[in-house]
Formats: sequence, structure tokens, C-alpha cells
Amino acid sequence: MKIGILALQGDVEKHSHIISDLGLESMFVRYSDELNEVDGLIIPGGESTTLTKLMNKSHFHKPIKKFAEKHPILGTCAGMIMMSKNVNHHLVSPLGIMDIDVDRNAYGRQVHSFVDKLPVRLNGDTKTIAATFIRAPKITNIGKNVEILAEFNNEPCAVKQGQHIALSFHPELNNITLFHKAAFCNKGSLKQRESSYAA
Ligand code: GLN
Repeated sequence: MKIGILALQGDVEKHSHIISDLGLESMFVRYSDELNEVDGLIIPGGESTTLTKLMNKSHFHKPIKKFAEKHPILGTCAGMIMMSKNVNHHLVSPLGIMDIDVDRNAYGRQVHSFVDKLPVRLNGDTKTIAATFIRAPKITNIGKNVEILAEFNNEPCAVKQGQHIALSFHPELNNITLFHKAAFCNKGSLKQRESSYAA
């Protein structure tokens, strides 16, 4: 399992450490044809108007949408904004991979960034993690096929739809591996289960 990290801009390095902590290989993706070499994709935090510009320049929109039909994508912060269906800013062209609408910068400016404890429900288990919000987006509308994994002040901030996960915050800054694991390690554990049946 090789995981691509969209490396046009933003916080890419720390995601590669999490991926290697999980025993997976990672690769920085800078050109759309490199999507053919990976089995999953991380769209990291950064700045969604800049990400939009750079993605337009490198013709990433269509190839990522196609990639999403078969492969898991994890988006954090600006990555969540890019995965959404509608954004409250005309310079952002979201991919519409997840049935959510978002408001950019809805948790305030950079100086209002914060870390807080967040209970996360995943695979029937609840774990409390530290979550770092930096000029984070808020989900303002959510489709019925979207599962809420975590809420902050009763508002969803971690969501899952099919194989995709989108987060308002930055798990990589607190070495939180559970979302990367949930997005990218399922196939591995399936294989493991199959082989233990075979044995
Ligand atoms: N506010 C940024 C945006 O609108 C996202 C911030 C982040 O990724 N930490 O794109």
C-alpha cells in the first residue's frame, strides 16, 4: 500500500511520518499522472484558494475525482475544504468528493488557533484525542450518507463517507494516527484476515 501526499503546498512532511509509523510507504504527488502510482491520497492543510490555483495549473481536478471513485482520500483542514461540495468562497473550486458544505476560516483567525480534547467514534470505539484547529473550516451542511466521527461544540468536525475521511483539524500535528489508519489500513487488515483464514 503506497499513499500519495498531494505536495503542491502546505503541511506535507508530517503526514509522511504518520504514514511510515503505520508501516506504509508514502510518496509526494506533484503531477496528476503520479496518482497512478498510489493506492490512497492525503490532501493536506494549507490554503484552499492557493491549492485551487495550483490544482488548476496542474490539471488535478478530474484525475483526483476519478481516483476517488476507487481509492480512499483523507483531507485535513484545507484538504477538507477541497473535498467538499460547496465552499463559501468564489476562489475555491471544491472537488465534491464528499457530500458536505463548508465555511472557510469559521473558527477564527490564525491567532485563534487552539488545541482541544476531542472524543472520536470510530469502528464502534470512542477514543479521546488532542486536535489542533488552525483557521479551520466548519461543516455547515451534511448529506445523509456522511457519518460523523467527532463533534466540537456540537458541530461535526470529523466525517466519513464511504472510504473517504475529512477533518477540520490537523491530526498530524499531534501524532494522531487513527484517521490515517482508518482510511488506509483497511485493505491491509482484510488481507491479514484472509491469510489467517487460509492458514
Ligand atoms: N483557512 C485555510 C483555508 O481556507 C485552511 C487552514 C488550514 O489548512 N490549516 O484554506
